[in-house]
Amino acid sequence: MSSGPDSAPVEGAAIQQGDVAGRRAALSAEEARLLDKYEQERAKRIRADGTAQYRKSEGELARFFLGDPGAEPLSDRPAVDEEVDVVVVGGGWSGVLTSARLVQAGVTNLRIVESGGGFGGVWYWNRYPGARCDIESYIYIPLLEETGFVPAEKYAAGPEIRAQVEAVATRFGLHSRALFQTRVTEVRWDDSAARWIASTSRGDKIRARFAFVGNGQLNFPKLPAIPGVEDFKGHSFHSSRWDYAYTGGDEKGNLVNLADKRVALIGTGCTGVQIAPPLARSAKQLYVVQRTPTVIAARDNRATDPEWAAKLEPGWQKARMANFEQVLMGGANDNLIDDEWTRIWEAPSLPEPGTDPAAAAEAALKMDLAKMEEMRARISSIVHDPETAESLKPYYNRFCKRPTFSDEYLQTFNRPNVTLVDTRGKGLDRITESAIVFDGQAYEVDCIIYATGFDVLATSHKEGGIEIIGRGGQSMDDKWSDAVRSLHGMYTRGFPNLFLVMGARQSAPTLNFPYMMDEQALHAAAVVSRLLRDGVRVMEVSQEAEDRWCATITAKSTANLDYFRACTPSLLNAEGNLKDAGKLILTTAYGGGPFEYIEILSNWREHAMTDDLELTH
Ligand code: NAP
Repeated sequence: MSSGPDSAPVEGAAIQQGDVAGRRAALSAEEARLLDKYEQERAKRIRADGTAQYRKSEGELARFFLGDPGAEPLSDRPAVDEEVDVVVVGGGWSGVLTSARLVQAGVTNLRIVESGGGFGGVWYWNRYPGARCDIESYIYIPLLEETGFVPAEKYAAGPEIRAQVEAVATRFGLHSRALFQTRVTEVRWDDSAARWIASTSRGDKIRARFAFVGNGQLNFPKLPAIPGVEDFKGHSFHSSRWDYAYTGGDEKGNLVNLADKRVALIGTGCTGVQIAPPLARSAKQLYVVQRTPTVIAARDNRATDPEWAAKLEPGWQKARMANFEQVLMGGANDNLIDDEWTRIWEAPSLPEPGTDPAAAAEAALKMDLAKMEEMRARISSIVHDPETAESLKPYYNRFCKRPTFSDEYLQTFNRPNVTLVDTRGKGLDRITESAIVFDGQAYEVDCIIYATGFDVLATSHKEGGIEIIGRGGQSMDDKWSDAVRSLHGMYTRGFPNLFLVMGARQSAPTLNFPYMMDEQALHAAAVVSRLLRDGVRVMEVSQEAEDRWCATITAKSTANLDYFRACTPSLLNAEGNLKDAGKLILTTAYGGGPFEYIEILSNWREHAMTDDLELTH
């Protein structure tokens, strides 16, 4: 999910470690043994087909993806044909935040187009039981001071977050500006009119002076290409399209219809870890199919203390958000959040000026190895069966996958109706009409739930159903076929007057996604309101400015690239295939961290904006 996104460990410690394999000489025998084990586990998981191992929700597989979980049947409405100042593609957090900041900046003639039946994006679609924000709700849910809302718990549940996206939209009057259940299929630049033309699945034509594309990272569900997926005659669906009509219950669990059902849950990432406990409580039998174990740290969720909330001073939320980032980067004097994120992610103290960078990197690696030993020991202390406990232990560096937090997941394996099917890095052999099969053993099941994630490599354009066509008929997919190229990750030459909001690539994504989304929203709103005020018709990034930013990204992200090269395959490193590094979120992230990036944006608005842009009045 979007913190999801849902997922960007680009903070201090990972950057400091850089080339993990190159640091061996400094390790103790035990530490070197662990690193050997990491390499062996990684080797088991590297596959020739890399990201091609997954299948999309098309054709025969479309039945795994039910329709819209939150909307009435498609309502009839006439096609819209209109002209606006701004068209915003997507009504998730990024679309809502940019629209809110535009309205605040006085840009009110805007149209939002959203495929779901309401606002929320990932929180709209992901309604699986147990869905919960993994970042503290007081910093994850943006604009709490503006909406006057206090989350009920330290880690908010999905429905509360969804309600808050809607509350922000209400506060800024966005509902009347939205077209729901409508998918933008193409945005095309008309050079002669200096307008973007957005075409939609419902025949709309929206001409706009500026286009904002914020259609997210975690919106194209994927299925594993396990032989026989389509042969299964029982019931199956993807986690992001939960079928409550089949399972019964709701997002709190109580899936009453599963009481006599044998269920297989495939996938043990952030999603699978949240789903397994409510499934285990309701199903007759649960098989958790694991390919790679995930780090499971304690959650320690608790109700919000009303006295604490009542004493919060104006400006508290941005300060708290910034404190989280500061702690992750190392160098904060206090830790306001004080949770397992900040403990797991804890960066080694920043090296004294003049410290040998190699020595600092070695210290960071040793700390990483020690933290992961703690995580593994924790599993043995919770899971009763030693063989199951061993299977659940992750052997990789701690930033290789987004860690998860749960006080229920590991405990679930102590239940008599739960079996871990550890596929030891391989995945299932096949699926038959009635069973999942691994290592010659068939497990008969009534239902298969795929918590197998999203296609984050798709650059969100053609593969995601949207063609972005710029000057001279060039598509953004073509421009970015080898690597992403932009200025600030937000605007790209050849696509004038277009803003990518939370494109994440070539910007500074953080673990707490809405924090950076709002910073980008504030920036984009300030830029567009100024261009409109100044009567600018066309804004184009200069080639020189784009080249300079690309060079900065390359220079600043090298250490990240080295780090992820040694990682177990995952969505973060293109399943270990770093030939696609030029398109990946992390390897194209601005390596100087969020504060530097935010300062770059504000300095640019003050001083360099008009130099870096070719403006036509
Ligand atoms: P994911 O992290 O991509 O995990 C997919 C899972 O499916 C992995 O465990 C993967 O195993 C497994 N898998 C894939 N192919 C398989 C096969 N053939 N056989 C067995 N298992 C297979 O997807 P996700 O869990 O949906 O999470 C995606 C992102 O959503 C996260 O990174 C996070 O940003 C976000 N999210 C956030 C929250 C939150 O609390 N805010 C909650 C859920 C999700 P391997 O590890 O071996 O590839």
